[in-house]
Amino acid sequence: MNISHIEHIGIAVENLDEAIKYYENVLGMKCYSIEEVVDQKVKTAFFLVGDTKIELLESTSPDGPIGKYIAKKGQGIHHIAFAVNSTNTALKQAEERGVELIDKVSRKGAEGLNIGFLHPKSTLGVLTELCSKNEN
Ligand code: ZN
Repeated sequence: MNISHIEHIGIAVENLDEAIKYYENVLGMKCYSIEEVVDQKVKTAFFLVGDTKIELLESTSPDGPIGKYIAKKGQGIHHIAFAVNSTNTALKQAEERGVELIDKVSRKGAEGLNIGFLHPKSTLGVLTELCSKNEN
C-alpha cells in the first residue's frame, strides 16, 4: 500500500477555540490553519509535529459525523490518517484484501488532499483514513 508516514491524527473536540488554546498554551504548538469542510460538517484546526499533523475536528452540526461521534463517545482520538501515493489505488488494494470501505473512491478533504476511509469494523476498531496529494 506504500504508506510513507502518519499524515495526521484526527481528534474530535467539543470546542475548537478551547482546544486550540490547550495545544498552543500547554503543548506549545502553533495552529497554522483553520478550515471548514462543509460536506463533512466540521471545522478543523491543524498543527504540525514533525511530518505529522494534529487535526482538531469540531462539528458544525449535531447530525454530522463528528457531532454523532462526540454524542456517543465523547471527545478524543477519532481517526488515524496514513499518507499514500494514491488514495484510489490504496482503497482498491484494501478492498481486495477484504477490508470494508467507507469510501469506494477518494474525495476532497481538508488541505485539498484526496481522502478515503476504511471501516473500523475491518481495521481493529481504528477508523483509518488514507490520503494523498495526487491521485492516479
Ligand atoms: Zn483526517
